Amino acid sequence: MVIWWLMGGVFLLACGLVAALFLPGRGRAASVVPLAMQRGVAADGNALAGHPAPPSRRKIWRHPVAWVAAVLLLMLAPAVGTWWWSQHNPRQLDGYDDTSAPSDAQLTASLEGEHLIPPPPLPPDIFLTAEVAQERPLLASADRRWEQLDPLFVQTVLRIFKVMRDEHGYEMALLEGWRSPNRQAQLAAQGPQVTQAGAWQSYHQFGLAVDCAFLRGNKLVISERDPWAMQGYTLFGQVAERLGLTWGGRWKMMDFGHIEWRKPGVKLGAPPTP
Ligand SMILES: [Zn+2]
Repeated sequence: MVIWWLMGGVFLLACGLVAALFLPGRGRAASVVPLAMQRGVAADGNALAGHPAPPSRRKIWRHPVAWVAAVLLLMLAPAVGTWWWSQHNPRQLDGYDDTSAPSDAQLTASLEGEHLIPPPPLPPDIFLTAEVAQERPLLASADRRWEQLDPLFVQTVLRIFKVMRDEHGYEMALLEGWRSPNRQAQLAAQGPQVTQAGAWQSYHQFGLAVDCAFLRGNKLVISERDPWAMQGYTLFGQVAERLGLTWGGRWKMMDFGHIEWRKPGVKLGAPPTP
């Protein structure tokens, strides 16, 4: 929106500049007569002798070059304005006034046009090993239903899973998706090493966050102390960020398996208003 105001302003400015440069203050009507119409007039400007404008400015319009220069200046002004704007506000050139989050996730899903199907649930006992219990308390009772999540976000997560499998050889597993406010509060009560976010303070409550890990054989690998898993988390973060999501691996309290979509319009802290 701003760009049109800016370009209009630049255009008007260029018009003013052309007028100031070429048109005399008085006798303007005579001067704006195109060259073609002035051809019939005597070279010394006899027909316009009654007008008191300075002859030097009047004569400028006898040269076709002056007209070409004026037209070029008027045509170039919006282009220069657009270029300047693109250099200073590259994101807003497309008409995005929203600065909270790029909607790449949305774009990707719709542009690819491919509807991905969530994988079937993993066997429950895969979440009951000693390693899992140590890495992720209360994981057995986590919600892993894809249908509880935002549909567009699901498509983006499935695309990440596909890239991780096809391009990097990592089979990914969903550990937790939607999380009730009660469960969020329960996790927060376990201390800041588990989570610092209370009820309604996490995108999990809005169906816009997932926690993921890797499958090696039939075993879940969560720990980032495993170099293979850490390599996977780094790739996972890169792919997710490329698709417009936020990766928990960048946070001060690093959460390598966590990704979220900061969907425009969603505000943390309170239940969503219907
Ligand atoms: Zn999470």
